[in-house]
Amino acid sequence: MARFGGREQSGNGATSGFTLKIELVPSPLWRKTLANLARNNSAWRSKWQTIRSTEMKRTGGKCACGAQAHSLHEVWEYDDREHVQRLAGFETVCSDCSLAQHIGRAFQIGKGEEALKHIMKVNGITYTAANELVEKAKIVWEIRSSYEWRQDLGWLRNRVGALGITLEDVDLAEEVIRGLSSDY
Ligand SMILES: [Zn+2]
Repeated sequence: MARFGGREQSGNGATSGFTLKIELVPSPLWRKTLANLARNNSAWRSKWQTIRSTEMKRTGGKCACGAQAHSLHEVWEYDDREHVQRLAGFETVCSDCSLAQHIGRAFQIGKGEEALKHIMKVNGITYTAANELVEKAKIVWEIRSSYEWRQDLGWLRNRVGALGITLEDVDLAEEVIRGLSSDY
């Protein structure tokens, strides 16, 4: 797995155990990401580039599916009791895996079937099983979207040295992300 520190995500039921996990970001958290922060904040843009190149080096520029990676994916975990979204790592991903990870958007832009086929291939499952993964993810999404969420960047804070950023960069990220609108 192309994940920082070889850390495995602790399972949350619906999508655990597969190489390609389908997890939809609850709507109150939309756009509240480090990648979007980099697009909105010039001071953070270069930090994101530093993290991205560090991660690309770590994974040899490969996606977990074996293809060439094109982007950096933020792995977030969800504490459904405390309603905390915790950054848990980064993955370098190919464009097909990225499309599948954003399956809601994939369907919006007419690439839903393409994304489903990729989920089938990477996870070695049938069309029905791939659909089931997506349907389960939608149910979880519906429930999670009805809550207010807090974000936790403690994981990043503990790895600033390895990722080539500073604690001040994380402070800035927390402050600016809080102010980013989740509206589309
Ligand atoms: Zn991939």
